[in-house]
Amino acid sequence: MKYVRNYRCTLCGETFDREEKSLTCPVCGDKGILDVEYDYEALKGVLTRDFFEANDNYTMWRYQDVMSVDDRFIKGTLRVGWTPLYEANRLGDVVGVKSLMIKDEGLNPTASLKDRASAVAVVKAMEEGYDTVACSSTGNAASSLAGNAARVGLSTVIFVPERAPQGKLAQLLIYGAKVISVQGDYRDTFELSKAAIDHWGWYNRNAAINPHLVEGKKTVALEIAEQMNWQVSDWVVVSVGDGCTIGGVYKGFYDCYMLGLINRIPKILGVQAEGCCPFYTAYLSDEPLKPTEENTLADSISVGIPRNPVKGLNAVKASGGTWITVTDEAILEAMKTLGSSEGIFGEPAGVTGLAGLIKAVQEGIVTPDESVAMIVTGNGLKDVKNALQAAGEPIKCEPDIEALKPYMV
Ligand SMILES: *Cc1c(COP(=O)(O)O)cnc(C)c1O
Ligand SMILES: [Zn+2]
Repeated sequence: MKYVRNYRCTLCGETFDREEKSLTCPVCGDKGILDVEYDYEALKGVLTRDFFEANDNYTMWRYQDVMSVDDRFIKGTLRVGWTPLYEANRLGDVVGVKSLMIKDEGLNPTASLKDRASAVAVVKAMEEGYDTVACSSTGNAASSLAGNAARVGLSTVIFVPERAPQGKLAQLLIYGAKVISVQGDYRDTFELSKAAIDHWGWYNRNAAINPHLVEGKKTVALEIAEQMNWQVSDWVVVSVGDGCTIGGVYKGFYDCYMLGLINRIPKILGVQAEGCCPFYTAYLSDEPLKPTEENTLADSISVGIPRNPVKGLNAVKASGGTWITVTDEAILEAMKTLGSSEGIFGEPAGVTGLAGLIKAVQEGIVTPDESVAMIVTGNGLKDVKNALQAAGEPIKCEPDIEALKPYMV
């Protein structure tokens, strides 16, 4: 918190004092998403490579100096972050790139990258004296909020669309959340949660409109940079729904760059599902985002009206990257490829990045002499139904070794 300089509205550019309590721009209202700005000059003397070498806090909070939280409330939270970054050159060879690294975010405590945002949400809620936190979500934001809140003794009210996969729903109920399954799509779910939050005055964990949450999500990029020993790859690949994750990925690398820890920002490849690709369409047409259908099995990125269009679009543009879309078939195929070649089980949105990378190499967007880091954003056990569809059938065999032999050749 100490190094937060001010907030800046991503729409009108106006800056606001760091004591500002409104989560969105007081001038523009709800669409005026704020960005947290830091005093990089002062931080440069603090967050050096030596600082990190001596830092033995192996959680996302090792970056707390470049976050907008009060460190008094960090103790007691679930252990989030410092997930492994694997070298995956066998898969890299198959895909056709010089080097491939995989960041497995499915190993966070509630099994997705969303824990990085939810951990911040519960810390902010405690800072401001709330006892209940609420959000709407396609699944992971909700299940991760419920888990992170339970750990620190906060109550949660969660709004999910009807189509949320069972694994995520089970997590919610086990973590003791009050779960409202809204009979409608994600838009209806979001609007109802907003009305209820306004009415009952809970803390709002809706990622897009809460600027602190992107500051949590960005720690994935800070970790990737540090785990690569500050020699970042040419590309970083991430799947996109609301646009907060990709916005956070860019912000993390931007921080590193501004602090002099890295000398360039990787190109960011934003991957969407063909059946729900408002970012991709806006990028191609060079027009503002338009609402689209939500037609993909990758539920976590099935977002027809992204709530963070400015940060999402800017991430790709400012990094010199690009957008790509993939079919649901390619997503299921990527799930099997990743699991069988590297032992990493991702949910559909978690492996969408791999499907996008494969296509980007085929199209010459990513070239064979380039290095790539790919983020697997969520664990496959959350959505067993789609995993089984991707995996195919087991061998059915009589309990007799002679019957087994033909299958073993
Ligand atoms: C939320 C989520 C994403 C996308 O993040 P956005 O901020 O919505 O763009 C990708 N993968 C998984 C598994 C997620 O839960
Ligand atoms: Zn504004």
